[in-house]
Parts: sequence; C-alpha cells; structure tokens
Amino acid sequence: MASDTVLESKTPLQFVPGIGPQRALLFERMGLRKAIDLLFYFPRAYQDIVPWSSVLELVDGTMATVLGQVTDMDSRHGFDGRSTVGVLLALEGGGYVRCVWYNQPFRREQFSRGMRILATGIIKSTGVSFQIRHPEVLFLGEGEEPPPARPMPIYPLTEGLQQRHVASAVTAVLPLVESIEEAIPEEIRKRAAGDAVPLMCIGDALRAIHAPSDIAEADRARARFIFQELFVLQLAMAMHRHRSRCTQPAPRIESSAQIHARILKRFPFPLTGDQLKVIDDIRADMASEHPMNRLIQGDVGSGKTVIAQYAMLNAVARGYQAALMAPTELLARQHYQKLKEQLQGSRVMIELLAGSIPGRDKRELLQRIALGTVDIVIGTQALVSEHVDFGKLGLLIIDEQHRFGVEQRAMLRESRTVPHYLVMTATPIPRTLSMTVFGDLDVSVLREKPPGQSLVKTYVSDLAEQDRWWRFVIDQVRSGRQAFVVAPRVDGSDDEGANGSSIGAIPLWEQLANGPLAELRVDLVHGRMDGEDKQRRLEAFDSGETQVLVATTVVEVGIDVPNATIMTIMEADRMGLAQLHQLRGRVGRGRFPGYACLFPRPGIETKDRERLTQFAENHDGFALAELDLQMRGPGELLGTRQSGLPPLRIADLARDGDVLQTARRIAIEIVALDPDLNLPEHGKLRRQVVAKHGSALAISDVG
Ligand code: ADP
Ligand code: MG
Repeated sequence: MASDTVLESKTPLQFVPGIGPQRALLFERMGLRKAIDLLFYFPRAYQDIVPWSSVLELVDGTMATVLGQVTDMDSRHGFDGRSTVGVLLALEGGGYVRCVWYNQPFRREQFSRGMRILATGIIKSTGVSFQIRHPEVLFLGEGEEPPPARPMPIYPLTEGLQQRHVASAVTAVLPLVESIEEAIPEEIRKRAAGDAVPLMCIGDALRAIHAPSDIAEADRARARFIFQELFVLQLAMAMHRHRSRCTQPAPRIESSAQIHARILKRFPFPLTGDQLKVIDDIRADMASEHPMNRLIQGDVGSGKTVIAQYAMLNAVARGYQAALMAPTELLARQHYQKLKEQLQGSRVMIELLAGSIPGRDKRELLQRIALGTVDIVIGTQALVSEHVDFGKLGLLIIDEQHRFGVEQRAMLRESRTVPHYLVMTATPIPRTLSMTVFGDLDVSVLREKPPGQSLVKTYVSDLAEQDRWWRFVIDQVRSGRQAFVVAPRVDGSDDEGANGSSIGAIPLWEQLANGPLAELRVDLVHGRMDGEDKQRRLEAFDSGETQVLVATTVVEVGIDVPNATIMTIMEADRMGLAQLHQLRGRVGRGRFPGYACLFPRPGIETKDRERLTQFAENHDGFALAELDLQMRGPGELLGTRQSGLPPLRIADLARDGDVLQTARRIAIEIVALDPDLNLPEHGKLRRQVVAKHGSALAISDVG
C-alpha cells in the first residue's frame, strides 16, 4: 500500500505504518485485525516514566526508569536448566545498572551493544551495584529522544510482540480518533457522572487512555469505557426484558382464593411471611398476559422448593402444564419423589424426564407430554436439549440455576410456546452479579428462614486431628443421625504439585469404610455413576439404611435429608465460600442441630485458612457470596466454565458495582422511553447492543 493512502478505521493492520504482514499476524493472535481494533485495545496498566540520569538517584526497592546504553550482555545456563540473561547499561548520567531475566533466553537476542534503552522496574541494590529484574524495556531509535515524563501505557502482549511495537502502532492509528463517532449522548454522559465532571467524550477518552498526560487522566478515560461496557450490557438486558414482558404473549393463569387455599392445604406447615410474599408476586405475574420472568433468590433452606411446588400447582389448577428443570438427574429425581408424595391422592399426573430413561419409555412419555396428559414434568437439561414438545406448557421453573447463564435462558425461550418463567437460585448472589447475570429478570428474595432451623456449627480442622472428628461422627451416627463426607473430585489425582495429591471420593470412601468408620454403614455417590445407581444409593441414604454418604459435590444443591446432621468437607480450601455454604446447608435441616467440619489441604497459605475461618463464623449466605466475589472474583463465584457471565473487557464486577448500578438505572429509564432504541440519538448505542449481545439475548436487529 502506498504511503500516501489514507488510514481508515477498516484498514487492515498490516497496512498500518510500521506493522507489516508479519507483525500483523502477531496482532491477529490477540484478536486485532483492523486499525480501529487497535484504537480499542486498551493498556492494562501505566508506568510513570521519569528517566533518572544517574545511579546516585536510585533507591533500593523503588520503581524507577533508567536511561542508558547497552555495554555488555551475558547469558548463562544453570545445572537446573534455569537460564539467566544479563544486560549491562551505562547510564547517561553516570554509573551502571544490570538488567536481568530468568528463564527468558530469547531476551539475549533483543539487545546489542550501543543500543539506547529505557528500562523500568524495581531497583534492587546488591550492595555494590544496582539491578532490575525483568524490567519493561523501551528501545530508543537512533537520535530518538526519550519520551517526556508521563505515564507509559503497558499493553497486554503476545509472544514475539513487544511494548514498543504496540505503542508505535497505536501512535500510528491515534489520528483515527477524529473519525470515531460518539455513541453515548452528552446528556447520558452527564447523568452517568452524577454531580461530578461528565464522562469524557469518546475522542478525548481514546486519546487519554493511550496517551494520558497523567494517571488521573488515564483513570477518567477508563471510567468512561467501564461505564460504556456496563451500560451497553444493561441496555441489552433492559431491551430483552422489555420485549419478553411487553410484546410476547403468555397464557393468563389467574389464581383464585379457592385455588390458593387448596394449594396451601397441601403443605404440612404454614408458609413463612416471605414465602407468601413471593407467592403473591408469582400469582400476579402468572395472571398477566405477558410472561413472568422472575428470579427467586434464597439462601439454603429458605424454602424455595415450596414456592416451586406452589407455582406448578397454580398452573395445573388452570389446566396448564408445568415443568421443573434441575441441574442434575439426582436432584430431578428427588424433586419428583417429594412432589409425588405430596400429591398422593390427587389427580395431578407427574412424570420424570431424565437422560437415563430408556428410549421406548421416553418416546411414550414425550408423546403424553405433547398430548397434554402429563401435568407436571420434572427433568434435567433433557427438557431443553430433547426439544420436548409440550401440549400446553404454562410454567417453566429452573431450580438451583446458578449454572445456567443468560444464553441458556435465551435458548429456552426460543421454544414455540412462551411459558411463564421462574428461576430459583440457591447461591445468594451479590447484587452486582445478579444484575449482570440475571439483569433480564425480576428478583424476589427470601430472607426469612422457616422456623426450626438452627445454625450449623462449623469447624476448621487439620487432617492431623481427623481421628477426633471421626469419633464425633460415630457418636452422632450411633445416636441415630446421618453424615455426609464430601470430596471435591471423584478420583484422586496427583496433578496438584505443591499442595500434595488430592483425595477423590472413591479412595476416600474406601479409606473411611475400611478405617475410621468401619463400624458404620458407609456408601458412595458421585456424578459419574449412572442415574439408577445414584438414585438407589441416595434412596438408601434417605431411608436411613446408609449412615454415612461419601460424595462429590453432586450433593451440593437441593438434597433434603432432615436426619443428616454432619457435613465433613475434605480439601475445603479448593471451594468457594458460596459452594461451602451450599454444602453446609445440606445438614441440620430437620429437628437436630447440624455440624460441619472443614479439612483444608495440608500446608495451605494463611490467607486461605483465614478465608475458611471467616466462613466458619459467618452464616449469612449473601455476606459470604459478597466475600467470595471480593476474594475470588466473579468467575470463581459462579463456576468458571458455565458462569453465564457476559465477557467484560474493562469493567470488573467486584470493583465497579456502583457504576453498574448507575448504568442499569439509566438503561432502564431509556428503554422505558425508547424500547427499541429507535431514536436517532440512540442509533449508535443500538448498534453496539446488537453487535455485542444481540445473539446471546436474542435481540435481533429487525426494523
Ligand atoms: P431451599 O430449596 O430453599 O434450600 P427447601 O425448600 O428445601 O429450601 O426447604 C428447606 C426445609 O425447610 C425443608 O425441609 C422444607 O420442608 C422446610 N420448610 C420450607 N418451608 C417451610 C415452612 N414455611 N415452615 C416449616 N418448614 C418449612
Ligand atoms: Mg431447593
């Protein structure tokens, strides 16, 4: 491409001055293809550049940048395979500093004598000389002046690419800033800032994020982009919400005082105030001509199952079908069994749809579901994946659903009938997360617990002490109670390195059943067993035949055995607090007080132990989830793989909760006035919403 060609947003990176085809491939590895991509490729940090001129000014242990000439290089290989590369710099103001890299032999090739460089890093005094380990390096060209003293952006890199490559490429595309249109109207940028200085406009923000004059300016630029990212997400959620609420038709399922009383009579206890309040919400939602989209958040044992049962019976009372989807077959079976018992003597037809049901039976069941002769279907994800055709589905409930994300839910709604939709999550999710993962839902919270539940007494112990604990377990079981022992995995594995190999449920079971708990009836259950097998073993525990159940975290959610009082958790440090809380919630559900004991892996760090100690003292699921979010981040909290979290590039849910709230509030207001973002001033926002979240939330760009 000729050098006088005008650079445009769409110009492929290889034609950007200073990049070329080879380096363009490296950029492509990071997902950058066009000039504009680079403009939106943000630094991960900044380094304050103050080119010190002389060693006399260097202070041990502080960050500094030195300017000097390469006078010598060396590289060594130790016996242990470690390599060391050293580069000696003669500082322009006098004295020497040695730059050192470990295990990066390729560094040797980057330097030659006479080069002028700036090196930034922590200064280490060896007594006789100064060193910088693994400095950030900026190579200066022939006669090139060191940059003025201002923050130097540090970009995420890929192998083969250096800071200066990215920096110079960004400098080359920076003039494009002029051509970038503002997506967020000034009015909104003002409101987003509240009483403070309005958010930067796009041009200023792009310039400032790449070439800030000081750190404060860089922070203001980031603030704009953080807001933008969260705002676009919340707009998508609000649009999705508005559409499903106000445009899709759903069956009107009106309750009556009679129906209400009849359903309540089915429960062996009076409902709590919170349960009744949530049920009121649900009755109103289901009576609407638009689908209910409601999330019930309630701590373990807060009585969500009752709500689910109520809602299903409410649908059935008006001749509609109801379906309940559980995350595991184990749970689906338990729900099925409990509901079946409860409905004994009624005409309500209830069936279980699970992966393990043989093909013939399943085909027959599917037919009956399609004909509408089955009233309530309890199932696993098979409910969605098998494209079950419901004759008259009025309500879909997803239980313990923190494993299903926004996308899975959008997929559910693609089915022809649009039922009312209820989600129950057992993990109390911090507000910032629920606004992101469940931003498209109305939320009801169950805070009040049913009477008769006491706090589970929780201990953090040591494997060295385990004999004492097992004796306690034996005592409890002898007095008639039952116990869980949970291990994070099925098999053991020794891929763990420093903290030693892990104990799987299978070897743990063998060890306990033949050792400390040999006198008790100990059984095993884990996720790899087939459905029937699991079911049999679970039933045996439920009936009291099995006294101690060794399990993986399959028992984490929704198992209800009121006689179980003891929860032992091995390698508890591997788990998040929310997960531990779930596990702890499996015991002490009946008349008897519960006890939990956590055994962390030997040799864990103090802070990890501290985390467990905090858990032992804290019984508020919401507080624990918040703690988890701060300490482990959102991915860990929701389970990394199926977190359902939309990818965020610059915003951080653990940090930017306030911005998220603001973004959400403004998004909801805007969508209320302009539901499809059709106003001209919202045009660019609309395009961003569709491009980023359109497919996930089934917001297509029609009209
Ligand atoms: P969750 O699913 O929220 O963890 P469950 O619905 O399983 O909680 O309820 C926990 C326990 O409390 C169950 O044993 C249930 O039978 C009982 N329970 C629920 N609601 C009430 C209530 N209103 N009064 C007494 N016990 C209740
Ligand atoms: Mg439950």
